[in-house]
Formats: sequence, structure tokens, C-alpha cells
Amino acid sequence: MRIAVLADIHSNQEALEAVLEEVKSAEEIWCLGDIVGYGPNPNECCEIIKERARYCILGNHDAGALGKMELSWFNVFAAEAIKITRRISEEKSKNFLANLPKIIKLSEIVLVHGSVRGPIYEYIFETDEAQRAFKDFSEKICFVGHTHIPMIFKDDTRRIINPGSVGQPRDGDWRASWGLFDDENLTFEFRRVEYPIEKTQEKMRKLKLPEFLIQRLSLGR
Ligand code: ZN
Repeated sequence: MRIAVLADIHSNQEALEAVLEEVKSAEEIWCLGDIVGYGPNPNECCEIIKERARYCILGNHDAGALGKMELSWFNVFAAEAIKITRRISEEKSKNFLANLPKIIKLSEIVLVHGSVRGPIYEYIFETDEAQRAFKDFSEKICFVGHTHIPMIFKDDTRRIINPGSVGQPRDGDWRASWGLFDDENLTFEFRRVEYPIEKTQEKMRKLKLPEFLIQRLSLGR
């Protein structure tokens, strides 16, 4: 089966729609959390993911939007965006987010936002962090998001895979990042797709989201 693996959409409807155009051939969509936060369209993104994703995990920004995570956990720009997200989120979006699990275990695969030890908040950036994280699960593949950087860590035949971020990439490439996973052959392919970024930035300005968050989209940082 061909599976589109998406993470860190962050209320970026244009990026999500551009990715969905590309994933048409995929049989399933899995989402690794942070559907909301940072961007202008939390309701639209929740609606699309609720409709399309087979599995979806709770991220730290989703928890923040629900008031399940204190704003002091976030930097000033993220916290400002979460306040705006809380204000514009509809009840049905909050209900959807409130029912998301922190971890999903399939036969040989585990899905989390951060790591198995700290599903919502722990980052896996470095090799030593990945080496430690491999001890917390026995499955062949652990899919993570959270860092917004596409990466694969190896440990013998096991892998920790991060597809990068749909709505706010931070690896220097502004295009939406996602991955195509084949669960029979266990192959994974990183994908990038352009989207109408000015449209997203314009909506962000209208909502008075921090200028820093608007600019960073263009830089992919
Ligand atoms: Zn995120």
C-alpha cells in the first residue's frame, strides 16, 4: 500500500492542498500531528485531515490550542499564534483535536509527534537522541514529526523517519515537505511541492499573526 505521511501542517491550507494534489495516488494518509498553530486556517486543515487521514496523532500545538498545554511551553511567536488559533477555532475543530491519540501502534510501525518517550514534546534532531529513542520501541519503523526537518535515522534494520513539515519547513527549502511510504517494500521517498505561499502570508497578515512567522515561511526556516 502507498501511504502519504504528513506532519506539521500548522494551519497552512494552501500547503496542505498542494500536497493533497500530489498524494492522489496514495491509498492512505497518515498525519503525525500539529495540524494547527502558526498559520491562518486551523478549521479548514482540521476538516481536511478529519476527512482524509486514516490515522492522526496529537501534536504540541494541537494540545496548546486546546488549552491542554500551557503557553509558557512555547516561544513568544508560537504562543501568540496559539492565542489567535484558540480564538478562531470552531467547536468542531476543537472536538476533532481533543480526540486525537498521542501514539498509535500498528504491527511493525509506531506513529508519534515527537518521540515514543515524550510523544508530544521531545525532539529528535541528533544521532545521539535517535540512538536513545530507538530503545523506547520495538517496531521496525517509528514515524515522527515535530522538528520540521526531513530526516531518517538508522539502527540496523530499524528506522526513525521524519517526513518534514507540510506547513512550515525549516530545512531551508520553503516548499511543503511530505513522504511517500510503501508498507510492503518498506521504502520511503521524500517529496516537495510548491504552493501559493503569498496567499497564506496575506491571510496571516489579516489575522495579525507575528511578522516573524510570516517571513520564515519564505525562508523555510
Ligand atoms: Zn510543529
